[in-house]
Amino acid sequence: MEWCVSLPKVELHAHLNGSIRDSTLLELARVLGEKGVIVFSDVEHVILKNDRSLTEVFKLFDLIHILTTDHTTVKRITQEVIEDFASENVVYLELRTTPKRNDSIGMTKRSYMEAVMEGLRAVSTVDVAFAPHNVDAGSLRESLPINDACDGKRKKIYVRLLLSIDRRESTAAAMETVKLALEMRDLGVLGIDLSGNPVVGEWMTYLPALEFAREHGLYITLHCGEVPNPKEIQAMLDFIPQRVGHACYFEEDDWKKLKHYNIPVEICLTSNIVTASVSSLDVHHFADLYNAKHPIVLCTDDAGVFSTSLSNEYKVAASAFGLGKREMFQLAKNAIEFIFADDGVKQDLRKIFDLATKKLD
Ligand code: 5GP
Repeated sequence: MEWCVSLPKVELHAHLNGSIRDSTLLELARVLGEKGVIVFSDVEHVILKNDRSLTEVFKLFDLIHILTTDHTTVKRITQEVIEDFASENVVYLELRTTPKRNDSIGMTKRSYMEAVMEGLRAVSTVDVAFAPHNVDAGSLRESLPINDACDGKRKKIYVRLLLSIDRRESTAAAMETVKLALEMRDLGVLGIDLSGNPVVGEWMTYLPALEFAREHGLYITLHCGEVPNPKEIQAMLDFIPQRVGHACYFEEDDWKKLKHYNIPVEICLTSNIVTASVSSLDVHHFADLYNAKHPIVLCTDDAGVFSTSLSNEYKVAASAFGLGKREMFQLAKNAIEFIFADDGVKQDLRKIFDLATKKLD
């Protein structure tokens, strides 16, 4: 495990509200319990539970959102999540989150995202490079020298943001999120994710917003094939997104299309097993895709909800699929090619991996 922690890593599929520390969730629940908003003893075991079906996961997200959807807490969890990823040598993080409205406290999707940006700026334990075109904050930090991830020096992490559309949302709400993403491009927002309960909503509802996003140059990643839904899977693949997440319920035609378009897959091993989207690692599609040299990247999905970390996902892959250190290093390095950030960032990341090569042998 120690080696997997030292390995520099790229995280491309992490949901902000799924990546919160248990200790923070419990603390927030206690406070709301004291205020009488929730009953702490009812939610404590829900937070600490380890095995969850996909349906239970989405119930848990409803609870998490009650605990976190205020500006101060959004700022706090963003800061903590970035610190946690950096502490295990994640050198590039594409963090995704669903901009939310909470009328009772005057929260708009924009003010939610401003709280996320405040969280990014508040990180002090590591250097965060997050805003490529923003002279006030980003470009200075962006130009900080690269760090060798395993030499014990102060760490640096690149952070970029994806805004998620929740499948419960209407076309208009999805469009609002895309427009917000466009307005926040200079602050490191690179693209759009479609997520949320896969048994809710219709592909055609989100399509206009996703097309608009693409026309305006945003990158797109879709949660695809988390449940059996052949028509939707085909429609999503025909859209040719830049990446897809999960791909658990693909059939032969879907694999053919995915491979034909060479669409990278964000693989979340622990998440797929815990939610029983895949029955066991022995039959996980990682092996086929890896052997076919199809672009794949290991990710956490929800490090908090599934009690995992990116280092742990590499450890799980190594033991389940018999990968040695060299293969794991290459797998981690390959992920650079599928990030949504520009070539300058890719070059920096390649240097970080090259520096790490010697030390990790
Ligand atoms: P947030 O966007 O609130 O920061 O992160 C939590 C949200 O991400 C959830 O409410 C859900 O919409 C989405 N999400 C997290 N994990 C999953 C997952 O495994 N599958 C899908 N489809 N959506 C997820």
